[in-house]
Amino acid sequence: MILKYPVNYIAITQYFKTGVHNGIDLGWNSNYGGPNQPVYAAYEGTVIAVEKNYNQTDTSGGSYGNYVKIRHENNIDTLYAHLKYGSVTVNIGDKVTTSTQIGEMGNTGYAFGNHLHYEVFLNNVKVNPENYTYVFPGQITSSDKEATKGLLYYTPPTPPSPPNEEETKEELKKQIKELEDKIALQSKEIEVLKEELKENENYVFTYNVKKTSLYEIELYDGEILLIRNNNPEETE
Ligand SMILES: [Zn+2]
Repeated sequence: MILKYPVNYIAITQYFKTGVHNGIDLGWNSNYGGPNQPVYAAYEGTVIAVEKNYNQTDTSGGSYGNYVKIRHENNIDTLYAHLKYGSVTVNIGDKVTTSTQIGEMGNTGYAFGNHLHYEVFLNNVKVNPENYTYVFPGQITSSDKEATKGLLYYTPPTPPSPPNEEETKEELKKQIKELEDKIALQSKEIEVLKEELKENENYVFTYNVKKTSLYEIELYDGEILLIRNNNPEETE
């Protein structure tokens, strides 16, 4: 499944590390949406968990603060944490797509500054979001190489180009020429065969046959056997 980064300015400020940090953190930039930039669903699905009444930042405890969890196809879930208080607009059971804004980046829960903590679950197990999430056309990535290393980019499939009328015409002309050449060659072969047939028709076999001889001569269709006496003295 191809998930889309849930924010349109992409800078990873903390990477996934199994058992230590079970998601990735995405930072903000004042030129691209700022500290409260919109957060979108990474793929179409259904909201299965929401916390929207959290109105504080905790210095300990690992709380998600305000968050949204979405169930997608293929046993994949995504979770978006530390959302700004008052920004979450979706509820459990809502259908969402990648153009549905689910909230804004914030720092509720266990957060040191505004960021989006983003998790991906495969069969209820937290996996590295970087392996499933792609940068889509129109999304902006940070100029900081450390914050963008290993990003996957999604390239939309290009639709087949419409046939070029001029090329189609040339191709048809070529096909016609090929057929004409073939016909000319076959006509020539027919002429050769006709010629052979004519020669066969005019061919006369001559045998000297003695009166007492016994011959067995096989005739083909159209052949005629003529017997002519060239030696009259022997006829008596
Ligand atoms: Zn985090």
